[in-house]
Amino acid sequence: MKRYKEVLKEAEASLSISGQETRIASILLEEMFGLTLSQLMIHENDAMPQADYDYLMEVIDRVNENEPYQYVLGEAYFYDTYFKVTSDTLIPRPETEELVYYVLKNESDHGLQVADIGTGTGAISLTLARTWKNNKVTVTDISSEALSVAKENGVNLGVEVTYKQGDLLTPLKESGCQFDVLISNPPYVSEDETHLMTPSVLEYEPHQALFADDDGLALYKKMILTLDDVLTKGGRVYFEIGYAQGAPLLEFVKDIKQISNPVIIKDINEQDRILHFTWGEDDD
Ligand code: GLN
Repeated sequence: MKRYKEVLKEAEASLSISGQETRIASILLEEMFGLTLSQLMIHENDAMPQADYDYLMEVIDRVNENEPYQYVLGEAYFYDTYFKVTSDTLIPRPETEELVYYVLKNESDHGLQVADIGTGTGAISLTLARTWKNNKVTVTDISSEALSVAKENGVNLGVEVTYKQGDLLTPLKESGCQFDVLISNPPYVSEDETHLMTPSVLEYEPHQALFADDDGLALYKKMILTLDDVLTKGGRVYFEIGYAQGAPLLEFVKDIKQISNPVIIKDINEQDRILHFTWGEDDD
């Protein structure tokens, strides 16, 4: 049997040879065996049980073949907890946590109707719904497989939201409800950005959740053009956007008279990340 410190070195070396990030080794030791970095330091000279070692190396072999470790383990950490992920859902990204913070900072919790379009794992809206007590959250996805994953996450986290299958704003329109807040992290990658993406994203993540036409802007435009059907006057919209989409989206919304105060918020890496605006005038 090998000692933990040797196992960590071996795992990092194996990942590095395959061009994977070496930090995945310590993430796996923590997620698979509950060993945080400080516990690893305490136990570095202890022997790792053979079965644990074999399991770790099996996972590392799959990661070396570009499979995201979150799909191998079936879960991904987002914001402050774990979400089930499958190949039907994107793996929630750290930059999307910034969208959650931004919405929480801007919105109150006094019984608003909130919708999340294209929820995937439910990471955004279930995190919001865990924080809020009074707002009512509806989540949608065009993929019924993704929606089942979101439901499972909702049950696991003990959060109550309404689930609706369908394309973009259609399920909201059918519900006949008017929403105060609309949030979406839709597919927004342009086909010509494929060369910027890692093999693990391209080979394993659902393309339906990643790519959109019109330089990745197609679904924002479609949603914006049907907002009147579903948003209250004074309703707020929050879209996660791609790093170069701020300017073209501001250009698009500038001609839409119901849209006021459009702003682009940059993420921690100084990339465009959120488009936020208000719909029409607030009557209050
Ligand atoms: N940010 C994602 C990426 O890295 C794209 C997510 C999306 O299209 N909504 O590829």
